[in-house]
Amino acid sequence: MKKKVYFKTFGCRTNLYDSQVMMGAMQDYDVTEIESEADVVVINSCTVTNGADSHVRSYLSHVEKSSGAKVFLTGCGAHTKGEKLLTQGRVQGVFGQSEKLKIDSMLSKDKPFYEPGDLNHIDEAVVDDFVGMSRAFIKIQEGCSFRCSYCIIPFVRGDARSMDEDRILEQIRSLALNGFGEFILTGTNVGSYGQKTDSSLALLMKKISQIRGVRRIRLGSVEPIQITDEFKEILGEPWLERHLHIALQHTSPQMLKHMNRRNIYKQDRELFELLASKGFAIGTDFITGHPGESQELWNEAMINVKDLPLTHLHAFTYSKRDGTPSATMKLEVNGKVAKERLHELESIVKAKNLEFRKAFNGELEVLIENEKDGLYIGYDQYFNKISVESDEDLVGNWLSIKDYKIKKEFNYARV
Ligand code: SF4
Repeated sequence: MKKKVYFKTFGCRTNLYDSQVMMGAMQDYDVTEIESEADVVVINSCTVTNGADSHVRSYLSHVEKSSGAKVFLTGCGAHTKGEKLLTQGRVQGVFGQSEKLKIDSMLSKDKPFYEPGDLNHIDEAVVDDFVGMSRAFIKIQEGCSFRCSYCIIPFVRGDARSMDEDRILEQIRSLALNGFGEFILTGTNVGSYGQKTDSSLALLMKKISQIRGVRRIRLGSVEPIQITDEFKEILGEPWLERHLHIALQHTSPQMLKHMNRRNIYKQDRELFELLASKGFAIGTDFITGHPGESQELWNEAMINVKDLPLTHLHAFTYSKRDGTPSATMKLEVNGKVAKERLHELESIVKAKNLEFRKAFNGELEVLIENEKDGLYIGYDQYFNKISVESDEDLVGNWLSIKDYKIKKEFNYARV
């Protein structure tokens, strides 16, 4: 009988994807979803904050106490904590994400080993996930060459590199033939696509849009400087989602310097105004409570946020990550204050989102993604959520909706 392997995955979509790949690649072992019956446990770790590290450590202690399974460590934590855990004898072996297809040989080694692999590795497969058989996540690049002072990602995922363009297009072609209409381009730093291969994100999107069956293209988070003149030329294209997510991380010029960000607030504002004038909904990422965020700088940042045409927000409180420049910066912000600031920011953007939805006076192009408690949930071209009541099964359908009600958090319609 084959030995059973339990996968414990921490962190982001990339790790979930890597675990899927490992499960699919295993031939000498069986996957189990029941932790207590596992002979082997693979921890696919996340190391993005100190908190993430401690989740991994406490899970490891739990396995040590509750089972006699052999434990292997992979994922981002392999690069930061792997060697230490191996020397302490707490894991049997450590391997990097580039080694995932060799999972059988990794798990069968009888001596302790540390094989962090290659940080320049590029996956062959680009399809990351499917949702509702109507939209697909396509990984177009990996890694990041920025060095934001709070972020460990470039050190554990490597510098930016792009997936092979022909392979991306080939995958999208076959998915479109199978009925997929919406494609979401993802990666660690999506906007850096094509930098070393003489291509660009705008060029890639144009090529994707020419594939028959492609209806809407969505993008993960891009950096302000990546909205280049070439990108601005595609803003009017009907296949581009009317929502862009552009990571600012802060709106105080001094905080942006502390955070070693490449964006400059004045230019960010010009860019956002240009996009808003073309009818785009705009989301951003923001970190509150990074060291150095005095009340004065925070107040200035909020004055700026109020001025920006923002509609969506993905915000976090700062979380310290050892090994990054921010971890040793003075003037730390109390966690409670960081949380209050997060709530203040969230309520400003929520109000702006409501205003945006009220001001819109047209048809919503909605793709229904799933059903929950008898209601169909989808997103429109502005990435606003809509909940639809219907007697028909709408999952996977595209709807044009003119009559709908605007509620505080989302839109609602009956069709
Ligand atoms: S751009 Fe994003 S992934 Fe890259 S260093 Fe900055 S925060 Fe990290």
